[in-house]
This record gives sequence, structure tokens and C-alpha cells, in this order.
Amino acid sequence: MSAERSEVDPFVQEAPRLANRWTADRVLRQAVRRLLPPDVFQKAAEDLELAAERCVTEMAPLAARAEATPPRHVPYDAWGNRVDRIEVDPAWTELVAILQGLGAVAIPHERTYGDHSRVVQAVLFQMAQAVSATALCPLGMSDGAVTCLREHDADLAAAYVPLLTRRVNGWTSGQWMTEKAGGSDLSRSGTVATPLGDGTWALRGTKWFTSATTADIAVALARPEGAGPGSRGLSLFALELRRPDGGWNGLRVRRLKDKYGTRGLPTAELDLDGTVATPVGGIGGGIAKISTVLHVARMEAAQAGPGATGHLLQLARDYARRRLVRGAPLADSPVHVGWLAEIAAEYEAMVQMALRTAQLVGLRESGSGDERLARVVVPLAKLSTARQAVRTCSELLESFGGAGYLEDTGIPRVLRDVQVQSIWEGTTNVLALDVMRALADPEVAAAFRDDVEAQLAAHPHPRVEAAARIIRAAAWDVTSREPDPAAGREVAWGMARTYQAALLAAQAGWALTALGDGRSAVALETFIAHPLVPPAPHAEARSIGLE
Ligand SMILES: Cc1cc2nc3c(=O)[nH]c(=O)nc-3n(C[C@H](O)[C@H](O)[C@H](O)COP(=O)(O)OP(=O)(O)OC[C@H]3O[C@@H](n4cnc5c(N)ncnc54)[C@H](O)[C@@H]3O)c2cc1C
Repeated sequence: MSAERSEVDPFVQEAPRLANRWTADRVLRQAVRRLLPPDVFQKAAEDLELAAERCVTEMAPLAARAEATPPRHVPYDAWGNRVDRIEVDPAWTELVAILQGLGAVAIPHERTYGDHSRVVQAVLFQMAQAVSATALCPLGMSDGAVTCLREHDADLAAAYVPLLTRRVNGWTSGQWMTEKAGGSDLSRSGTVATPLGDGTWALRGTKWFTSATTADIAVALARPEGAGPGSRGLSLFALELRRPDGGWNGLRVRRLKDKYGTRGLPTAELDLDGTVATPVGGIGGGIAKISTVLHVARMEAAQAGPGATGHLLQLARDYARRRLVRGAPLADSPVHVGWLAEIAAEYEAMVQMALRTAQLVGLRESGSGDERLARVVVPLAKLSTARQAVRTCSELLESFGGAGYLEDTGIPRVLRDVQVQSIWEGTTNVLALDVMRALADPEVAAAFRDDVEAQLAAHPHPRVEAAARIIRAAAWDVTSREPDPAAGREVAWGMARTYQAALLAAQAGWALTALGDGRSAVALETFIAHPLVPPAPHAEARSIGLE
């Protein structure tokens, strides 16, 4: 008798199956097809299909293993020596290596796809998001460090860029900013740098969140002795975590963080006690220099929301065809399918936003982009996709019923991991205030409105005209408001949704004209059925906000 027959209740629910994201995901494929010239698209499509296959066959099982065995801090060895070993599951190390091999860091720096490399890299980040056990985190930071070193320090770039961009045996970099006194507000950073007289400096202080403590190098903010207070007194330093003899470079691991999500990723509290480091681009301008890292890291963080949502949406659609309710597949239930459609529209808007952001970062790097547009779109993309994805992933989790709540389906992890995107690399408030600062320059608002217009004009189609009028009006409304910090979240959210709608309109017009496909138009119409710009907060908000 088979094991199944011996069960009291022989019913077994068919599990949802993970598909090759590139071939299964019409939204992602068509979005890339619109953005890339045909010859580049053809090459990228071949590479992305192979990468997507590895996501399913290799990375998903490795990610499950890495998450099941979270990193461990071993402070002392058996003989009492302080060793501060960070043990990670070999599966996690392999995930980092696979992603490096696929070009997660290398693509934009090799310029594998010319001016379009950032877009292709972004697709890779999206496809890998839910099957990487957050191995993308050190790779995103490494990419940011490469960009920063290339921009600010030729010697350090010559030393580290080849190592960080290698596809085999590549190094990784951390970015150490957050201290106990603040991660958003770095003005009270207490790490002090003392000159050693040979061009290097010794750092002393505590870094409160350092991710991927398995990194080879890090860029860290510190205050040189005698420098003024506040964030203006900070400089950026590069350091190797290990000395040539393999010992820590003046570092002590206080402990690993016990986190809600990103559990495969080692995030430590570190004491720096005489850590030898080299100033990046000389002393001074630390915040401006770390901003180069953050610009890239935020663009990459913006890929996580659509990445996670697309992953769960594919599984949810598959499950809807396998799960029976009242004798019929869930897929036959209009209420269920209507719900998935609303999430699908949100997903398509996120994909458009994230890929456009990657495109803008790429254009800036090739010297042909509009600096002011990228300045405002990057924080908008990061803050909006993070918030949208927490909602969409939560709803998609519910679409599996009780199974969605079970750890061994792998579904709760996707929601937990996406939640962090609204915190690291700048919280929603911090990014909204950043957008308000950017809007103080009227040319930024003008660049934003111009690009909304350009998107609406890119692929005109009669079916998109009504939506275009709504989007145009929203763009004027939201950018005509006072850049009032108190309304920062609403203005930023309104700008982000307006921009997403404009990009969706471009996609819808293109798909109707080039492919005769009306599905992006359905997504657009579903998306703009909700108001694009929320109202400003109530004048007496404080009376209940801080009751
Ligand atoms: C898993 C994980 C990994 C991380 N890895 C790293 C890392 O590798 N390197 C690193 O440097 N950091 C890292 N961080 C830290 C992260 O960047 C910070 O937690 C984040 O920037 C917020 O800083 P904070 O924790 O000090 O919160 P706070 O800044 O104290 O924020 C508390 C609240 O205040 C709000 N707030 C802050 N400033 C303002 C303001 N001016 N106006 C209005 N509201 C405001 C925030 O939005 C938030 O809601 C990591 C965090 C997590 C969760």
C-alpha cells in the first residue's frame, strides 16, 4: 500500500509551481522589449531566459536551504581565543557566487548591453529577488561602492573595482553608515578617524547595522579628528575587513541582529577599534560621496518590490488553477480573479517604475541623462515600490489561504524580505523629505512634468487618451503644491503614482500599436481608477497622530 493510501484523508493539494519568470512573465518581457533596441533585446532575452531558469532550478532550492540555516556568530573558539567567526550556510555563499556569475555587479560596469546594461541588470535583480535569500544585498552595495570609487578615487578604484566586478571569485563590499544614534540622521555619527601618518587612518566607533559582514571591503563614514560637528564633518573611508594575515582589521563583532526578515543575510553590530582605512577621494564631503553609493543602491532596492510581487503573482495564478473551491478552480471565481487583476495592475506599474529608474541611472552614467529627473525619480521609485510591495505581497500571501501563512511554502519569507525595503537605504519619510528638497529647485518639478509629457507622447493610442488627460492633470496638481515637508509623503506618493501611470500609458500605447495587445491598457485603466494623488494631511493631524 502506498504511503498516500495509508493516510486517513488521502487528499493532497497540488502545490503551486514556480515557472521560468522570463518566459512566463508577459509584463516583464514586454516592458523590456519596449525599452531595448531589437538587437540588444534579443541578446538580453537569451541571457535572461537562462538566468530565470537558474532562478528556478538552482537558486530557489539554495535560498530555502540558506534561510533554514541562518548565519551564526561564533565569538570565541574552543580555547578562548576571540575569533568572531560569522558562519553562513554554504548555500548562501553559492547564491552570491551564482549572482556574481550572472553579472549582478558586472553587467553595468562591463557594459554588457551597452547603454541598456542597467535595465538588463535590473531585470536580473527582479527575477532573483525572491530566490536569493537576500544575497542581492551585498551585490547591490558592491555595485554602489564600485560606482562611488570610480567617481571619487582613481587609486582605490584601480585596487578594488576589478575585484568587485569579477564574475568568478568576486569580492563584495559593505556600506557602513548607521550608528546607534541614527541611520536616517547621520549628523550625530560618533565614529572617529585618527591619521596614522602614512595616508591611512584608524577608525574607532560602533556601526550598528552592517549587512553582509562576510564582505571583503566596506565604505564607512567617520569623523576625522578635529572635523566639525554634524554631517558636514563626515568623511568616507574604504577599508578591508581582514588584515593580510586573515585576522580582523581592528573589528569586533558585538552580535548578529535577530531580524524579522532577510534572515539568510548576516547583519552585525560591529565595534571598530583601530580599523585601518583610507579616505575615499581625500578628507571631506563624506555625505556627498556616500550619496553616490545610495543612488545606485536605491535604484536596486526599487527592483525588489516588483521582483517579490511578480514572484508571488506567478505562484498565485498557478495556484488559482490548482485549488478547487465549491467544485471549481479558484480561477473560475470572478471575485478572486478581479482581486488578482488589481494586484497585477499594481505590479505592472511597479515594473515600469523600476525599469525606468534603472534606465535613468544608466543614462546618467553614460553622460546623456537628465540629472534632475534621475535626482527625483530614484527616491520616488524606492519609496513607492517598497510600500506597494508590502501591500501586494501581503494580499498575495492571503490568496493562498492558510498555506500562504506556512513557512515551508516559502511564501511568508517573500513578504518579510520585502518589508525591509521601506527601511534600509532610506525610510519612506526620509525619501519623501528628500523629494521635497529636490522640488525646491523648480527645474526638478519641470523635468518631472516634461518626462510625464514625454511618456504620454511616446506611444499615443486612442484607447489611452482619456487616461493621459487624468495623468497630465495629476502631474500639474502634484507639482504645483507647495513642497511642504508636512505633506511630503502625500506629495511623493502622488508623484510616484502619477509617474507610474504615465509609464503604464506609454507601455499600453506601445503594446496596442506594436503587438495589438490590450492587456497593459487594462492595467492602466485599473490603476488610474484609484485617485493618483492623495489629499494633503488634515490640518489638525497632530491632534490624533500624537494623541
Ligand atoms: C536588515 C537591515 C539591514 C541593514 N543594513 C545596513 C547596512 O548594511 N549599513 C547601514 O549603514 N545601515 C544598515 N541598516 C540600517 C538602516 O539603513 C536604518 O535602519 C535606516 O536608515 C533607518 O535608520 P534608524 O534605524 O536609525 O531609524 P530612525 O532614523 O531612528 O527612524 C525612525 C523613524 O523616524 C523616521 N524619520 C527619520 N528621520 C526623519 C525625519 N527627518 N523626519 C521625519 N521622520 C524621520 C523614519 O522614517 C522612521 O520611521 C540596515 C537595516 C536593516 C533593518
